[in-house]
Amino acid sequence: MNNEKIFSIAIDGPCGAGKSSVADDAAKRLNILHLDTGAMYRAVGLYMLENEIDIHNPDEVKAHMDEVKIDVAFENGIQKTYLCGRDVSSLIRTQEAGDAASAVSKGAYVREKMVLKQREIAKGMSILMDGRDAGTCILPDATLKIYLTADVHERARRRYDERVQKGEACVFDDVLKECIERDHNDMNREVSPLIQAEDAVVVDSTHMTQAEVVDRIIALLKERLEA
Ligand code: C5P
Repeated sequence: MNNEKIFSIAIDGPCGAGKSSVADDAAKRLNILHLDTGAMYRAVGLYMLENEIDIHNPDEVKAHMDEVKIDVAFENGIQKTYLCGRDVSSLIRTQEAGDAASAVSKGAYVREKMVLKQREIAKGMSILMDGRDAGTCILPDATLKIYLTADVHERARRRYDERVQKGEACVFDDVLKECIERDHNDMNREVSPLIQAEDAVVVDSTHMTQAEVVDRIIALLKERLEA
């Protein structure tokens, strides 16, 4: 799409709904950057794990937050996530880092720091962000807000298939349990819980291919920009 106007897209939703892959594809087609906000929480979680800080104690996590320096850079449009100057883009993809992200992201102080950084990154350019609070908190005036969801069994199946493809040994029921737990934590935390923004368009991808979801997002954006 050829557009001079600066615009932003916020995609939120539960784990395994396909936000990251859809966001990557849509951003590529629109020639804009995709900021994976979850990567930043994962990097915070990784720091706390590596330094043996109790991720379930918000005061302890907060006390160490000034040591945590998160940066992102885009190389050929692909996000690299840095923790205190170290490229941790691969290291943060483990289940442990995901669980730690889910724990540390409950802390108000952690969220404040991340949101400031995310807004700073987005300043003055068109961007697509995916996460849990992109539409409700980071980009309240986003041009388009999407709440991307799917049946939890389908989400767990996708996550399970991904892991099997990577050669990881896993059990479907464990993956399902993990998805349910992660959603429960994200939807029930006090600060910026995962909720559908009032003005978000719900896209249920249970019976949709990734390409169909991306087409739908681009069509919705076009409508918004032409309105
Ligand atoms: O998106 P991803 O699964 O990588 O995110 C890991 C965890 O980070 C989520 O389960 C959630 O707890 C947290 N997160 C968040 N807010 C965001 C993005 C992620 O709280 N904007």
